[in-house]
Amino acid sequence: MMTKMLDAQALTRRYGDFVALDHVSLKLEPGQGLALLGRNGSGKSTLLALLALADSPDEGRVEVDGLPPGQARQALAYAPQEISLLEELTVEENLLCWSSLPRKEGRGRALELCRDLSLAGLRRKRVDRLSGGQRRRVNLAAALMSHARYLLLDEPFSGVDEEGAIQIRDMLLTARAQGRGMVISGHQPQLLRPLVSHVLVLEQGKAIFFGRAEQYFAAFPEQCHEP
Ligand code: ATP
Ligand code: MG
Repeated sequence: MMTKMLDAQALTRRYGDFVALDHVSLKLEPGQGLALLGRNGSGKSTLLALLALADSPDEGRVEVDGLPPGQARQALAYAPQEISLLEELTVEENLLCWSSLPRKEGRGRALELCRDLSLAGLRRKRVDRLSGGQRRRVNLAAALMSHARYLLLDEPFSGVDEEGAIQIRDMLLTARAQGRGMVISGHQPQLLRPLVSHVLVLEQGKAIFFGRAEQYFAAFPEQCHEP
């Protein structure tokens, strides 16, 4: 039997002559969490889009549990950095519309997510009437409207207040405990720390560190300070 794993091998993405991602490899098992760190422009979003099969690499490949591409996509949930919601629909309509769950289960899941992310009072509000942090939370909730085994979350904490960040963290901790794997990009290692087993650091498109989280935080103790 094929081991269940998100396996990215030597991914390279170029924009013209510019190499945005240079032979980056990683492996993630269900139940593991990977923090994707690096400065602005280091290639985090480029890598996440490739892992989500939303973009194609110039070199390298992504394998998801050994599945053919059509089925592989169903094992992945992607919350892009650029919020992509249907602006004229309500929060609840967006969640149902992005859902791959049967209708009744979808409704239940939408209610549950809205409750856990403090969106319950906003369920019937149009997305274009929401604040930035509220939109970020709906964007995340939309990605969680499936049974996908791997969550690919591009800066899910961006613009979210402290209370919202704690709710997101708790929800993701539960998802990991249920055996889901996740890749989470961000600029605050300390915020991601409780969520991850591994860390990948990008610098100008190259992986300069990939290993266990304890190893990363021991090697870069300055990252242990609260931001
Ligand atoms: P941030 O922390 O700001 O989100 P990032 O690590 O996610 O940054 P990417 O968005 O992956 O960085 O971008 C990596 C590099 O690729 C950047 O230098 C960016 O300018 C370049 N790039 C990204 N998308 C394109 C594009 N469509 N065309 C040309 N260059 C691009
Ligand atoms: Mg980015």
